[in-house]
Amino acid sequence: VSPQWLLDLWERGRGLHPIDQGLLAASAAFPDDSESVADWPMGRRNRALAQLHAAVFGPVLHGWTACRDCQEQLEFRLDGRALAEGAAAAPDDRIAIGTRRYRLPTSRDLAAVAEEADADAAVSRLLARCLVGSDEPADEANVDAIGDQMAAADPLAEIQLRFECPNCGGAYDEPLDLAAFLWAELEASARSTLADVHRLARAYGWSEAEILALSPARRAAYLELVAG
Ligand SMILES: [Zn+2]
Repeated sequence: VSPQWLLDLWERGRGLHPIDQGLLAASAAFPDDSESVADWPMGRRNRALAQLHAAVFGPVLHGWTACRDCQEQLEFRLDGRALAEGAAAAPDDRIAIGTRRYRLPTSRDLAAVAEEADADAAVSRLLARCLVGSDEPADEANVDAIGDQMAAADPLAEIQLRFECPNCGGAYDEPLDLAAFLWAELEASARSTLADVHRLARAYGWSEAEILALSPARRAAYLELVAG
């Protein structure tokens, strides 16, 4: 992955909703599938993002969160490559509850309900979108069972992190938004590259393209000279 490619991706995704940033990153990583990534079940999208993360930043997902109870900073480390190689979604992307069948939610579905402020209303609209081959309304009384079956059919759709706080003893699970996580790393990497370009351009008068074409070793060596 070239620094130019990362900068272009960051520039195109700035200010987008995390769902759209995730789609952009998955399409950039898998350009042959770019037409269909919005219709991938979320687990497949997450697998693509984990693969992209491994290719660009290495396999370890390393981050921090504030303890839900006492705000202590809690660290997490996750093997993104193991995640990417984990269980695949059910091949037919369908689950059945009673007489009704549902497809697994996709980025397109989540984007369609993302603006819904009321969580129950968002779930209702999501169920209605995912219901297939039925004129009856979605079976909202079974929403928990539907959610459980969807999670079982597409285990990577939601990644749960387990936190145990050494400060207050609290223990809880929290979902990891892989798109937001990856984007935060892209953002930091792009900012750092731009800062390098800024320093070298100012010192030597080189163009952005010339600086980005330097190997990492040469770029680091010139930065050291400039700092010295
Ligand atoms: Zn705590």
